[in-house]
Amino acid sequence: MFNKILVANRGEIALRVLRACRLLGIRSVMVHSEADSDAIYVKLAHESVCIGPAPSSKSYLNIPGIIAAAEVTNSDAIHPGYGFLSENSDFCDQVEKSGFTFIGPDADTIRLMGDKVSAKKTMLEVGVPCVPGSDGALPDYPDEVIRIGREVGYPVIIKASGGGGGRGMRVVTKEEDLLQSVEMTKTEAMMAFGNPEVYMERYLENPRHVEIQVIADQYGNAIHLGERDCSMQRRHQKIIEEAPAPGITKEQRDKIGATCVEACQKIGYRGVGTFEFLYENGEFFFIEMNTRVQVEHPVTELITGIDIVKEQILIAAGEKLSYQQDDIIFRGHAIECRINAEDPYNFRPSPGVIESYNVPGGPGVRVDTHLYQGYRIPSHYDSLIAKLCSTGDDRDIAIARMNVALSEFMIEGISTNIPLHRELLSNSKFVEGQQSIHYLEKWLAERRES
Ligand code: ADP
Repeated sequence: MFNKILVANRGEIALRVLRACRLLGIRSVMVHSEADSDAIYVKLAHESVCIGPAPSSKSYLNIPGIIAAAEVTNSDAIHPGYGFLSENSDFCDQVEKSGFTFIGPDADTIRLMGDKVSAKKTMLEVGVPCVPGSDGALPDYPDEVIRIGREVGYPVIIKASGGGGGRGMRVVTKEEDLLQSVEMTKTEAMMAFGNPEVYMERYLENPRHVEIQVIADQYGNAIHLGERDCSMQRRHQKIIEEAPAPGITKEQRDKIGATCVEACQKIGYRGVGTFEFLYENGEFFFIEMNTRVQVEHPVTELITGIDIVKEQILIAAGEKLSYQQDDIIFRGHAIECRINAEDPYNFRPSPGVIESYNVPGGPGVRVDTHLYQGYRIPSHYDSLIAKLCSTGDDRDIAIARMNVALSEFMIEGISTNIPLHRELLSNSKFVEGQQSIHYLEKWLAERRES
């Protein structure tokens, strides 16, 4: 087992990983930027190393700085969290070449899944259903692109092969706009991801986002932990997630789960991962695989009782998966609200000092946050400041508990999206469940007009 893990991330996930380390009796090293010196997880860690100034490019993305920190602290392994370097295959390579364990899959797997064109190709080969679209990247010939557009059928979506975080996508509703949209997406993709390659998919008009959590060890054992519904999105960013996905039957879960497990075994996947699907008219269509722990992993932990981050660390240390598929029992329902430091209605980021603070609690409530009274939220990073989860025997109880928890959650000094969550949680369509990925945007637009 590892003696010491270096956590190459910040915010709530840094604290989450720290908790798993403590649970396992592993010492922890936090690397942080100058803007994060006062973070609670920096204080709670055994050791900390400042790796650079506030901008991520100089700190959380500073590969030599992170590796040097692992060397001077004599760490055994590096946990990348999510975002930042977590899906950077070069980072993974360099970590391993420097003699440390990267807590995640190997660099080749990250590379394969990080490129959406190669990921989709691989998934089709191993029998995972994908959104119908171009056979790989779009060619340079305009006539060919037009032909592919006709074949796929409008509306289509042009997606950057190197895209992520909801960026690098463009919907095209008619043929006249196709070539220009392809060019624009290519240019943007080149600038944002250093890779101009784009591909085409049919744009599904009313899908839900349903994803499957998997865990696999290096000995070929793999299991799934069921699905999460992440359809409540704004600008392709998830706001609320829940497990199980309303309306998905046990048979559907078993079937798509088994497909993902088989895919893991065929590609030799190791670690925790998520297969993301769009779900429409009873069918699942793969869109991408995340090769890291996800923001929304707590809802799965709440309904399965499995500590996903602990398992992730154990597997990286070379241990065998502690569970078989039959051990996994899904119990009740869980919901997560992502609490962001932003204006609830115009979504402008709202960094600043937390002047007063009250955390919710009680039965079925879990809060993952690094906030404390007096903490200053830096302006340089993602606006996620807390994940509020509720759980109960069924979805209605989880929603009721979430309403109570939201009413208790007081964060003063900055703006948060808690008022938006409160409105959404009492919205009849949300309560009904099974809304599509477009629901939230439509509701926000209607709200603005009224
Ligand atoms: P990213 O890596 O940027 O998160 P994804 O491929 O996972 O990109 O897509 C993000 C979101 O974009 C999806 O959850 C969905 O809302 C929307 N989307 C992606 N592909 C399609 C599609 N073919 N049809 C409709 N919506 C899509």
